[in-house]
Amino acid sequence: VDASEISLKEYLNKYFGFTTFKGNQEAIIRNVLAGNDTFVLMPTGGGKSLCYQLPALILDGTAIIISPLIALMKNQVDNMRSFVVEDGVAHFLNSSLNKAQIQKVKDDIMAGTTKMLYVAPESLTKEENVQFLRQVKISFYAIDEAHCISEWGHDFRPEYRRIRPIINEIGQAPLIALTATATPKVQHDIQKNLGMLNATVFKSSFNRPNLYYEVRPKVNAVKEIIKYIKNNPGKSGIIYCLSRKKVEEMAEVLKVNGIKALPYHAGMDASTRSENQDKFLMEEVDVIVATIAFGMGIDKPDVRFVIHYDIPKSLEGYYQETGRAGRDGGEGQCITFYSYKDIQKLEKFMQGKPVSEQEIGKQLLLETVSYAESSMCRRKTLLNYFGEEFTEDNCNSCDNCLNPKTQFDGQDELQMVLET
Ligand code: ADP
Ligand code: MG
Ligand code: ZN
Repeated sequence: VDASEISLKEYLNKYFGFTTFKGNQEAIIRNVLAGNDTFVLMPTGGGKSLCYQLPALILDGTAIIISPLIALMKNQVDNMRSFVVEDGVAHFLNSSLNKAQIQKVKDDIMAGTTKMLYVAPESLTKEENVQFLRQVKISFYAIDEAHCISEWGHDFRPEYRRIRPIINEIGQAPLIALTATATPKVQHDIQKNLGMLNATVFKSSFNRPNLYYEVRPKVNAVKEIIKYIKNNPGKSGIIYCLSRKKVEEMAEVLKVNGIKALPYHAGMDASTRSENQDKFLMEEVDVIVATIAFGMGIDKPDVRFVIHYDIPKSLEGYYQETGRAGRDGGEGQCITFYSYKDIQKLEKFMQGKPVSEQEIGKQLLLETVSYAESSMCRRKTLLNYFGEEFTEDNCNSCDNCLNPKTQFDGQDELQMVLET
């Protein structure tokens, strides 16, 4: 396809109903249409999906979109279907489908109807699927959430490392890898592992000016959370806890206090989990209490707050999870409760793991601690972490900028020690 000939805006409008591109979407899409390998670093909510969806709709053949989670795929495909009227244009292939459904997917692909096929890496590597896909005309491969390739990312998935060899087996086509993770280490890992060190790289700013960041000492956290939610009636929010048990307890406490909340974690059966997710998306409940199993790529634009009851294992994870707030550009408050005791707990969890993993884990934790304990602008610290400079003195939207600590606040620390 001669990318320069196409009025991409017409396609954008026709398929998605949008009038303008966000950030560097257009340049990215042109690069994909030109058949080049493309690497996209763009924060959550930046509009990465469109960077492969639009070219997939324009190009001949089927784009293979590799994406880590069933919930995420369903969400994306449902979303696509609501834009694209024709049935069968987007499909997903995973273990949740029965035989008849799989046949329908394959028929639609062979008929040339399907422009986008979402697959989890586990499905992609299945021999029968490899054999099937060898006969398919593939426009390009999109690897979404590509940071899953890297052990330095916040969501390492060993299956992701098999993507390149499998692509070689199925058949070469251009690649587009996308992630909201931008630490230089992760970026290099991804490009190297996918064999795309020569890809054109598109990196957006990771600043999310509409997000407010705050770290509070973990003292009376549950009470504070209840108070916060009651002060923000009708607003959608996510509360992250580390353990499934804590998720259940928290959801229960909130319910008892008259808050419409539901739990979400990987230990629940699949149907309850997706039911709870849907209720949150449909706004039957205001709050979802979740482990990090929830939220990757979930497209709820108007999440108004993300509360971390437990501190995340890495700054990367923190950025991702807080990034689920304010995706529509509106207000998003990110409040994290921090106690050093939680860090020690996290360190303990790591003890059973292989030494190399422990070392990575400790390094990541250390960075989290220094963020939480810092009196510097949160935004500046976060952006520095992504190799980006934030030059303003005062971001006006974090606790440290709005209430500068003139000296070490010994009172909070003392209270924390007493209560934990
Ligand atoms: P990411 O994967 O980068 O986190 P998404 O692809 O889920 O982001 O997109 C985030 C939101 O932005 C979605 O609601 C999407 O519909 C919207 N969006 C994407 N591109 C545009 C655009 N050009 N104009 C308006 N909204 C857009
Ligand atoms: Mg996405
Ligand atoms: Zn600040």
